Amino acid sequence: KRREKIRNFSIIAHIDHGKSTLADRILEKTSALTQREMKDQMLDAMDLERERGITIKLNAVQLSYKANDGEEYIFHLIDTPGHVDFTYEVSRSLAACEGALLIVDAAQGIEAQTLANVYLALDNDLEIIPVINKIDLPSAEPERVKQEVEDVIGLDKEDCLLASAKSGIGIDEILEAVVDKIPAPSGDPSAPLKAMIFDSLYDPYRGVIVYMRVVEGTVKPGDKVRMMATKKEFEVQEVGVFTPKPTAMEELTVGDVGFMIASIKNVSDTRVGDTVTSADRPTAEPLPGYRKLNPMVFCGLYPVDTNDYNDLRDALEKLELNDAALQFEPETSQALGFGFRCGFLGLLHMEIIQERIEREFNIDLITTAPSVIYHVYLTDGSQLTIDNPANMPEQQKIDHVEEPYVKAQVMVPNDYVGAVMELCQKKRGDYVDMKYMDENRVNIVYEIPLSEIVFDFFDVLKSSTKGYASFDYEMIGYKESRLVKMDILLNAEKIDALSIIVHRDSAYQRGKVIVEKLKELIPRQQFEVPVQATLGQKIIARSTIKAMRKNVLAKCYGGDISRKRKLLEKQKEGKKRMKSVGSVEVPQEAFMSVLSMD
Ligand code: GDP
Ligand code: MG
Repeated sequence: KRREKIRNFSIIAHIDHGKSTLADRILEKTSALTQREMKDQMLDAMDLERERGITIKLNAVQLSYKANDGEEYIFHLIDTPGHVDFTYEVSRSLAACEGALLIVDAAQGIEAQTLANVYLALDNDLEIIPVINKIDLPSAEPERVKQEVEDVIGLDKEDCLLASAKSGIGIDEILEAVVDKIPAPSGDPSAPLKAMIFDSLYDPYRGVIVYMRVVEGTVKPGDKVRMMATKKEFEVQEVGVFTPKPTAMEELTVGDVGFMIASIKNVSDTRVGDTVTSADRPTAEPLPGYRKLNPMVFCGLYPVDTNDYNDLRDALEKLELNDAALQFEPETSQALGFGFRCGFLGLLHMEIIQERIEREFNIDLITTAPSVIYHVYLTDGSQLTIDNPANMPEQQKIDHVEEPYVKAQVMVPNDYVGAVMELCQKKRGDYVDMKYMDENRVNIVYEIPLSEIVFDFFDVLKSSTKGYASFDYEMIGYKESRLVKMDILLNAEKIDALSIIVHRDSAYQRGKVIVEKLKELIPRQQFEVPVQATLGQKIIARSTIKAMRKNVLAKCYGGDISRKRKLLEKQKEGKKRMKSVGSVEVPQEAFMSVLSMD
């Protein structure tokens, strides 16, 4: 039977351990694609992705493989994003599989993301095939890494395959292991339809393309389907598989991984993790594990040029078509004017969206410092959710404030344990656990406020461990903290876009750092500008931006007009990312400076 020949699997790995390279080798060995047809790193489709070397969009490819037993097998290789911001998407694409290839770099060994991915694979009951990659490297220590796989993950070290994705060693063994070890899908093709959405993509010509895995039942063009979470109904126009070209099929049935097109206009109707069922014969229960994606990090996006406001809204609307996790709503700032409050899954997601708006839509942005969502309990018994520090009520009205915490896992060589603990402590972390992976590497676990991670945790971690640390985190919920709102005044005017929420104990120190930083970043104006940090009415730090000594135009008086215009032009160029805030010209960097720690 066809279904017994299907193998659905993913490749999971810490970043740079060789996932994309191995995927390329597998594509070469299986599909009919020639080298020339195959673009480098086929699975990473978007340009931005390639530049950043990360995978943002999941993909699924159908491959056919002739095994040593002489039989032809159908592989569905499902790609997963490689960043903590997209953990939920990773977990759903793993839920579409029966097995996973776990790639571990033979020189680096197990890293934080290796473990995080293994936990996700185990949560989804996947068969895990460990592969030690890069054995061609002179620094490779396959035996040590095998032992680590056994000690830390609990997989038998005898089951580890040795490979070099780069030089093509061990690829046949990997493909045979996929056939032998990963179970074929099971399910009833005549039951009511149950298919899980693990990704979707907006196509300007076809509408939304839904990537899904059929778990029960069958779906074909003409069927009426219902999305169980959003309750939206659609008529199926086309189903098919990616080979990797989209190829139409008569139907998709149990075990199939492919796409569905059904005149869907908006990706938010096709939520990752949702169950697609038949509208006429619906299943009683959706598949387990659906969760609505909630943004964790918020910031304000404002056009530098007020005339770009409508273009910015159009850009956000276009991006939202393709990104169910992106949220935005209009926001007005006294300082910055009209803009949008936007919600993101994490910092990387935020940076990607900002970059796309600037590059693809050509809009210069002022971005305010990222904030998490605070739960504020008022003395009158009511509760507020605050995603913009400027909206924090006065201190007297607040009973207590809670902030989101994450469980952070850091893996480092022995020598850096002290540095990592010091950093976690400084970031208000609560120590949880520390384990030796082998005689030289340690796994350190802390619970840390998400806001501290959002600020500059990863950069400081990298620099204080010479890049040797690897890091991963997951949300664990809210905890009470002694937080206060700090306001910044420029020229005695409160600038709402510069307000931040800080821990009471570090407020004075942070205030001092921020006013100094602003003094450095804000160019001299025609007049002297005092910069103040306040808690409520109380000024806790101040600095002064001295007045400009010379007018740039002064030396042009009497000179020829074109030279004067050139100078003005030049000045405007330099001002590109400046915004006049009240009477003061403030550059983009100043809005991020409130995050500075020292
Ligand atoms: P990913 O981040 O897991 O997708 O990793 P990539 O496939 O992009 O590989 C990261 C880097 O490691 C690239 O420079 C690859 O050329 C290199 N690489 C991948 N596999 C091997 C291998 O088997 N041996 C060696 N020496 N380098 C490899
Ligand atoms: Mg990759």
